[in-house]
Amino acid sequence: LPPDLFGPGRRNSHGVELGCRSVLAATLTDIAGHRREVTASTLIDGVAHAGATRTVVSPIDGSAIGRVVEADAATADAAVAAALKGFVAWDRTPASERSARLRRAADLLEARQAAFLALLQDEAGKTLDDGISEVREAVDFLRYYAGEAERLCGAGETLPGPTGESNVLRLRGRGVFVAISPWNFPLAIFLGQVSAALAAGNAVVAKPAEQTPLIAFEAVRLLHEAGVPASALHLVTGDGLIGARLVEAPKVAGVVFTGSTEVARIINRTLAGKDGPIVPLIAETGGINAMIVDATALPEQVSDDVVTSAFRSAGQRCSALRILFVQEDVADKMIEMIVGAADALKVGDPRDASVHVGPVIDAEAKAKLEAHIRALTGTARVHYAGTAPTRGTYVAPHVFELKQAADLKDEVFGPVLHVVRFKAGGIDGVLDAIAATGYGLTLGLHTRIDSLVEKVTERLPVGNVYVNRNIIGAVVGVQPFGGHGLSGTGPKAGGPHYLLRFASEQTVTINT
Ligand code: GLU
Repeated sequence: LPPDLFGPGRRNSHGVELGCRSVLAATLTDIAGHRREVTASTLIDGVAHAGATRTVVSPIDGSAIGRVVEADAATADAAVAAALKGFVAWDRTPASERSARLRRAADLLEARQAAFLALLQDEAGKTLDDGISEVREAVDFLRYYAGEAERLCGAGETLPGPTGESNVLRLRGRGVFVAISPWNFPLAIFLGQVSAALAAGNAVVAKPAEQTPLIAFEAVRLLHEAGVPASALHLVTGDGLIGARLVEAPKVAGVVFTGSTEVARIINRTLAGKDGPIVPLIAETGGINAMIVDATALPEQVSDDVVTSAFRSAGQRCSALRILFVQEDVADKMIEMIVGAADALKVGDPRDASVHVGPVIDAEAKAKLEAHIRALTGTARVHYAGTAPTRGTYVAPHVFELKQAADLKDEVFGPVLHVVRFKAGGIDGVLDAIAATGYGLTLGLHTRIDSLVEKVTERLPVGNVYVNRNIIGAVVGVQPFGGHGLSGTGPKAGGPHYLLRFASEQTVTINT
């Protein structure tokens, strides 16, 4: 594909990123040429495990797109045992060499983007724009953590000490990291977790979401091809029980997890209850993310940014907007414009390049979202009820108005926006309501009042605050991403402190 596929994205009138439409025709033909059935399985030391297979179906239309061999408990244990062996040599591999292999993987991924775009569409239901952003983010993670390993994990830092003594502080891998990743970014978050752990010198056992094993399988094979030893990176395909088995394994040295708050809690409990070493958890979970719009905000910009934040990726981002707080004086106009912009979105088959909103991940997700929509249709004010294809797992975008934010109790992981009005001078009540959710992932603020920006950022312990723009699509190395409270343990993926969380520090003092 032409390299400018990864050039800066353009936006349509609703703020939805277009990627590079100039190469669209070539892209689509290329993607179509890469559609093929993939069989995924556990990979221990690079060897694919045979066994009974389960069909992997596409959220687009329920068609079979591949097969997966699910691991059993003994296989999970074997993966950890193999990783323990592989750790020794990988940790001793110079950071510069580990980085070179991750960079090679980034180059390979760019060269094979069409094949990964095909899988992102078929297995995860991604639109072309979302797929392109995701491949770009995955490439960014590989290169960023490669650079971080060189910066942080080299020969070590010599510290000042008394004459006759040398003190060197250096970073090493911790051991075996279990990486449990979600279906909503099956390539970028999968590779982000894996490459951060590998860059710091750990061996990895990766357990992708059960909905998206095919992309993970192809990504691991690509890393192996790029020179990451098969003994240092193992893949275990399976459901949550297999993930639990990996977390319980006695010799695991760390767990990195992205997914629900509930599962993060279970992992935390398991780790706390184990004998042996104290094992850290790096968790990035959900959010009931808010955006505050006051009377000084620019209506066109607000409607673009709200629609992008709430409906792009069919609302299936942890960062997505769930509650919009609008100042009463401007609320009617803002809502009218948001509804207009939402109505211009095309919902449907993501293989059609003009589609903005693809399917949600599976029938279970759709049923849950539809139950929420049904409940609110009876009790809340309905500003917008869109339409969506009935075949496949599509959910129509909706905009509801709630009397108060407390009416939304849980994260609703789909294209449903909730609006709450607030009175001029009522900003403290809004901040209290946001704090009361207990989450702290993303927050949007549309205002021209600088002191309000300061007040909000000081008061709310939120990981990513976005002012006068949309609240999704954190860029690696630019907007380090991760939240606090119910939203996670805080480390910022794609940020300059992330690799430290995967490493152990060693001080060597020599009396010379
Ligand atoms: N990093 C993504 C963003 O900024 C969200 C990741 C997630 O959904 O877990 O939109």
